[in-house]
This record gives sequence, C-alpha cells and structure tokens, in this order.
Amino acid sequence: MAHSPVPSSEDRRTIVCLYCDKAQEVSRRAMQITCKYCYKSLRVEDVLIKAYEARRVIDTCGMVVVEKRGHVVADRIRCSGLIVRGKVKAHVDSKGAVLVGPEADLIGDVTAPSLAVGAGAVLNGFYRINSPVETSSTTNPSI
Ligand SMILES: [Zn+2]
Repeated sequence: MAHSPVPSSEDRRTIVCLYCDKAQEVSRRAMQITCKYCYKSLRVEDVLIKAYEARRVIDTCGMVVVEKRGHVVADRIRCSGLIVRGKVKAHVDSKGAVLVGPEADLIGDVTAPSLAVGAGAVLNGFYRINSPVETSSTTNPSI
C-alpha cells in the first residue's frame, strides 16, 4: 500500500558534468557519482576550505567556498560556483557565478558566467566572464 504519489524531485538535483557538460539528476545526498555520459567520476558535494590547502586540482560539481581564514593554492579549480572570502591562487573554471568578498584575494585566471567583487578585494589575472559554452581545450596548438 505504499503509493507514493508523484516521484518527488525533492531529493534530486541537477548537476552539469564538468567534463562533458551534460546535465543529469543526482541524489542530493550523493557525494560522488559517475557521469552517465562520459563515465568519469564526479564529485558533487560542496568543498569548504577553512585553512591553508595546497592541491593540484579541485574538481567538483558543487560549490567551492573559501572561508576568511581559508587559503587555497591549486593549479586549477573547476566548480559550479565559487565564493571567496579568503585567498585563492588558482586557475578557476566555474560554471556558475564567482563571488569575491571584500578583502578577499583571487590570483589567477577566471572563466565564469558572472563575477561579483566586493570593495577592497584584490584581483590579479585574466578574466573571461559571460563566455558561452566552455570548450575545455586548454592545449590546442591549432588555435
Ligand atoms: Zn560527463
């Protein structure tokens, strides 16, 4: 007698694969999934950085949040959104808005659909804002 009415979408959310740009539904509680289309492993949880962290890459379909005392040094951050309240030194490729709080530092190239910067923030890099679909070909000698 377990007639659940409409399969609720409450516990699902749509993410966009970082690698093939295809949207798909995942469980809200999932931390990591395998893309249905390109079979790459995708992290879907938000990444919260509260202290100094040096990493090669941060890849997530969730948000990356760098708290006031957070300081990230990475080659590349790929995410669906970035909030910087501390310091970031990385090449950022975000599918959603990048928010840089007042007195935050963001050093590195940024690709994002939008960028909001608080007064007093330090930005240093090349910014490509509102670019359409990103073809992630970083090394293409023919161009
Ligand atoms: Zn994919």
